[in-house]
Amino acid sequence: MTKPRTLLALNWKMNKAPTEARAWARELAQGYERAPVELAVMAPFTALYGLKETLPGGVDVGAQDVSAHESGAYTGEISAAMLRDVHVTYAVVGHSERREYHGETDAVVAAKARRAQAHGLTPIVCVGEGLDVRERGEHVAYTLAQLRGSLEGVAENVVIAYEPVWAIGTGKTATADDAEELAAAIREALREPYGALADSIRVLYGGSVKPDNIASICAQPNVNGALVGGASLKVADVLAMNAAL
Ligand code: PGA
Repeated sequence: MTKPRTLLALNWKMNKAPTEARAWARELAQGYERAPVELAVMAPFTALYGLKETLPGGVDVGAQDVSAHESGAYTGEISAAMLRDVHVTYAVVGHSERREYHGETDAVVAAKARRAQAHGLTPIVCVGEGLDVRERGEHVAYTLAQLRGSLEGVAENVVIAYEPVWAIGTGKTATADDAEELAAAIREALREPYGALADSIRVLYGGSVKPDNIASICAQPNVNGALVGGASLKVADVLAMNAAL
């Protein structure tokens, strides 16, 4: 099986105003060597347009969420068509912080992913268990159930991010073996809806990824990149991660 192209996806979360985002992009451009990996920045909505214009060629941008609705009376929502209009490539859906603080269910996540795809965006669908589930040893079954629900009716133009909640922002990284265990299980589960195309779908790991652990995690056979939060904010860390891959 040839591995799909590695994706280094940065999740800035609620950080960086548009001015800061553009300054970050200019700083990145000074040291960025286009690596064999694909680099993409998931930025706050307000930063997306200016960021895309300032980033070096070949670096993509993504949103951290997208509306499940097409258009109309949904105050505060941003549609997939609006994102496409400002040259956005990806939309993260179902991040554990959205599931936890905004009550997003698997059905809502799937609806957002379908809407993103309908407008030519690639959804990055996040799944992963909390600490209690991991301690009960039910992390594989839990994550695969979440995956199936979150992919209902979703086409194969999708990226999966396995992010164990206990590893997000905590400094507790899953081991490379933990990441591979779930990535392999996810890949197997993807065969059911997508058949042989499952091999071309990128499965990322996320949760306290940083320059000194990214290479060993992404070297695992079923891991095709990382979704990085805390270590995505400083250009130096991003350049180091890009160079390590
Ligand atoms: P972290 O966040 O790298 O800060 O753990 C990852 C994420 O939430 O996507």
